[in-house]
Amino acid sequence: MLRSFGLNKLLGLSRSIRPSLSLSASYSTGKKDTFYFKDLEVTHSTTQKALVPKEQLKFGHGFTDHMLEVEWTRTGGWGTPRIVPFHNLSLSPAASVLHYSLECFEGSKAYRGDDGKIRLFRLEDNMKRMNASSSYLALPEFDTKEAAKCIQELVRIDNRFVPEGLGYSLYLRPTMIATEDALGVSESNSALFYTIANPTGPYFPTGFKAVKLYADTEHVRAWPGGTGNKKLGANYCGGTTPTLLAKEKGYSQILWLFGPQHNITEAGTMNAFIFWINEQGVLELLTPKLDGTILPGITRDSILKMARKWGEFQVTEGSINMEQVLQASREGRIKEFFGAGTACVISPVKEIGYAGNDIHIPLDINDPSSETGPLAKRIYNEIMNIQYGNTPSEWTTVVE
Ligand SMILES: *Cc1c(COP(=O)(O)O)cnc(C)c1O
Repeated sequence: MLRSFGLNKLLGLSRSIRPSLSLSASYSTGKKDTFYFKDLEVTHSTTQKALVPKEQLKFGHGFTDHMLEVEWTRTGGWGTPRIVPFHNLSLSPAASVLHYSLECFEGSKAYRGDDGKIRLFRLEDNMKRMNASSSYLALPEFDTKEAAKCIQELVRIDNRFVPEGLGYSLYLRPTMIATEDALGVSESNSALFYTIANPTGPYFPTGFKAVKLYADTEHVRAWPGGTGNKKLGANYCGGTTPTLLAKEKGYSQILWLFGPQHNITEAGTMNAFIFWINEQGVLELLTPKLDGTILPGITRDSILKMARKWGEFQVTEGSINMEQVLQASREGRIKEFFGAGTACVISPVKEIGYAGNDIHIPLDINDPSSETGPLAKRIYNEIMNIQYGNTPSEWTTVVE
């Protein structure tokens, strides 16, 4: 470990000029195309943050003692991965992330099971998606295995922050930002990859709470040829005012539509699923296909794989528009509607407001007090059982 670092130290070379040297690189150009776990340097925090009582954990608020960071330059490639005390960033006010949203991110979680073990869920798939997002911004890619190992080490070091209990987790936020100190609108010649971690409680602290969606016919989240299939901060800022307007109307999220037919794309920041009897009379779980406007969710993919394995109903990546939903609602063919994503796993929907109609979505016909339909609940339970280690799965990695 740290062979190249040791060599540089021996030669008295400063870290800042090291990336331009070929000493540490395995490429003939001297440019490092990835960073490696074996090079990871750890600086432990000299202070320990107090743990927030479980009941007071708030999503996105409060971070662990450490963070992972790796610098990159176009000429030198990746620098040394480092786990260092959590700290504010120092950036030029001209940094392109601050002006042109040259940023992408990921969301993943570490879960502590009843056996006390901490598990990661499909983290390498998050890293693959980050490479797709990053490269679209002409920002760097990395080896997904190496990046996942570095993040896993952050979780190991900050393991005391991973709360116990079903629904509790350590939320991980890998982030890539363009840091070049220049205002020109062009690709950035430097970047920072970092990961911070936030201990968080259950999305539904008192059990499922079905939500109302506002099918927005005015604003558009993503469009063909755009960036809707990449996890970019830029995809979110445009939703700020539309979401506030929907909340003023009494809805919790927007059901994003696209095109003259008002095709369903996504539910808020989640992938959308409908469980219904389709126009052919077939029982079907349908989610919009990955046509470039849909974020390829890892929860989405997990649900599709799981439901296809069950083989109990048709599972379709297709398209559905609001007229079809209205018609199906009138004919009593809608069984369930839900959003899916890492934060909540599943978010059941009870109503969709669309063009003056309140489309009522059934939850559990056998239990009027239920806030979820049976399929949403079953999927939720199966995924949670995998994430918390009750069901063995190739999707999880134990943090030793
Ligand atoms: C992150 C995200 C999702 C969910 O993806 P997961 O990998 O399941 O967490 C869905 N839609 C959008 C727009 C997202 O940004």
